[in-house]
Amino acid sequence: MDLLRRDIMKNLYTNIRYIKGVGPKRASRLRKLGINTILDLIYYFPKDYEDRSFFSTLRESTIGEKTSLKIEIIGSGQIVKPRGNLSILKIPFKDDSGQGYLVWFNQNYLKNKFSIGQKLMVNGKVNKMGMELQVMNPAFERLDNKRQVGRILPIYSLTKGLTNNQLTKITENVLKENINSLVECLPQDMRRIHRLMDIKNAIENIHFPTSRYMFEEAKRRLVFEELLILQLGLLTIKNRTHHETEGINFFQVPEVKDFVSQLPFNLTKAQVRVVREINSDMESSIQMNRLVQGDVGSGKTIVAAISMFKAVKSNYQAAMMAPTEILATQHFESLKSLFQPWGIKCELLVGSLSHKKRQKVLELLEKGDIDIIVGTHAIIQENIMFKNLGLAITDEQHRFGVRQRAILNQKGLSPDILVMTATPIPRTLALILYGDLDISIIDELPPGRKEIETYAVGPNMIDRVNKFIEKQLLSGRQAYIVCPLIEDSEKLSLNSAENVYNQLKESIFKEYRISLLHGQMSPKEKDSIMEKFNNGEVDILVSTTVIEVGVDVPNANIMMIYNAERFGLAQLHQLRGRVGRGDYQSYCILLNYSRGKIPRERMRILQSSSDGFKISEKDLEIRGPGEFFGTRQHGLPELKITNLFTDMDILKIVQKEAIKIMDMDPKLSSQQYSRIRERILEMFKDSEENLILN
Ligand code: ADP
Ligand code: MG
Repeated sequence: MDLLRRDIMKNLYTNIRYIKGVGPKRASRLRKLGINTILDLIYYFPKDYEDRSFFSTLRESTIGEKTSLKIEIIGSGQIVKPRGNLSILKIPFKDDSGQGYLVWFNQNYLKNKFSIGQKLMVNGKVNKMGMELQVMNPAFERLDNKRQVGRILPIYSLTKGLTNNQLTKITENVLKENINSLVECLPQDMRRIHRLMDIKNAIENIHFPTSRYMFEEAKRRLVFEELLILQLGLLTIKNRTHHETEGINFFQVPEVKDFVSQLPFNLTKAQVRVVREINSDMESSIQMNRLVQGDVGSGKTIVAAISMFKAVKSNYQAAMMAPTEILATQHFESLKSLFQPWGIKCELLVGSLSHKKRQKVLELLEKGDIDIIVGTHAIIQENIMFKNLGLAITDEQHRFGVRQRAILNQKGLSPDILVMTATPIPRTLALILYGDLDISIIDELPPGRKEIETYAVGPNMIDRVNKFIEKQLLSGRQAYIVCPLIEDSEKLSLNSAENVYNQLKESIFKEYRISLLHGQMSPKEKDSIMEKFNNGEVDILVSTTVIEVGVDVPNANIMMIYNAERFGLAQLHQLRGRVGRGDYQSYCILLNYSRGKIPRERMRILQSSSDGFKISEKDLEIRGPGEFFGTRQHGLPELKITNLFTDMDILKIVQKEAIKIMDMDPKLSSQQYSRIRERILEMFKDSEENLILN
């Protein structure tokens, strides 16, 4: 039986080249849509539908709207030519309510397609010309043949050279011949409990819904399936704890109060709340897995510092990791001065340390003579030994690694874990990505911050913007100029950092100190440039997005971003957060090279909002989850049908179901999950994650 099934399934992996009606040309167009096999085609769902299932009558139809009618031809076609290159074909018809004309422009060949007395279904926009009712450019079908009219038609995303009609036909054929090869992957019990339709029905009705209800049900089933596979896949990533594990009981530390009271500012209410949440996690005997989300500048670092203080005062070591050396170094500097008065020993561990210094640090760390180690993520990945690591903090990592937790677990360490991110993750996404993390949100900025004035302009404004930058420089400020790429690439006519740098230093900013910073420089070079910028020895820093995270230079008050349309909104918001850190009014200029509607709308969102959460939700809404996920930072497989905005309810149900399954059968080894298991492996085949299933 199983062998037979496998054979049938194999058919579905047949290359689309061999489908009837698909030649090499069409195959290559389909491939552009990511369709390589029959199965891909079956899972290439419509992006929208046109409902032609309701028939109206001529008399009840609404002028200007697309309408389906059942009609009879009552005369032969007439052609009129009002202008040289325009000819109009009119064919008289009647229905139960009255008479009218089918009208086509420049399609005279249709004249002989119809005969008097012929009965048809038509669908087209109804127009009124004088007393005459006309159906414009209608689609038509014989009454017994429901293809173009009389049903809900799929509308697919297309590519050049492939029409919706063609794709609809191909899909219809493929479904007819292959639908029986589809194998149900959801266990029967699960389908019964959640009232999910079977896979064949679902696939047929997602392409060609027989009714609105059937469409809704098909969609619900397919979303359920997709989310279940995703969620189980995430849960089977090796060592991703989804159970509460035994952790460290940190002390109640009275000195925390003194530590906080000696800060140069009062904590915001939000900071106090989050510190309290972290405290109670740390004091409990269950391992902490907490994500702290807080907009740029909301003061996450100090929250991290307070929890490290608590860890050290409970006789444990703490580690703080940042994604770049620049940021790690900055954290190190500020933490060192914060902790020195308390006799807490901090060290920095980054790639650019000399070998000797590095050995020394490793030795002290293992002996327990270092309380707090700050570095890049490499510090937990390399062969580094701690005496007793109690708290691991990751800063500014969009996607907390699952992998990092796995590494810690492999080392036999189960420190409390705190992840901090300024990339606000919409609630739905957080549920998926961090389903097993607790979330704290710092939703308040320290008082006295000035709003950053943001302007989106076209390239014709560059000269004016440059003059404005110069004005700021003249009054003693510094500027960031951010570009999308390092070098000029031939394919994309983008402004590379190198190009912009070379151009500016020869022309308008000749008299100023201008430096270039990009990710391919050695850490040493980067650090020395950053330090100069920090000390005010550089006026303008032209860079790629390496400055995206964390960098803090209060005197810099203006940021110009070339090709802003190329960046994600959340990323632009992060970049913008590099200014507005001092007492000066700050500015962000978005140079938008696109005239498209969507890019313009995205720029408008940034201009009008400074709330990172709102911005990223809007971004998700406009670009759709497909593209949102497409960005590697989230590192999730592509979702074909789920909309994380609207499918929240299903997600919640699926999460419960997934956890239940994992409790019973963590390796999905029982027969009833074998199909799901296959699908998970398929979905995660391009990911670097290590699944237990493998
Ligand atoms: P982010 O959340 O982006 O990491 P930081 O932790 O770097 O933000 O904090 C940004 C700036 O705000 C720092 O200079 C920090 O010292 C300051 N800061 C943090 N909390 C407060 C507060 N409660 N009141 C005033 N300034 C604060
Ligand atoms: Mg920070």
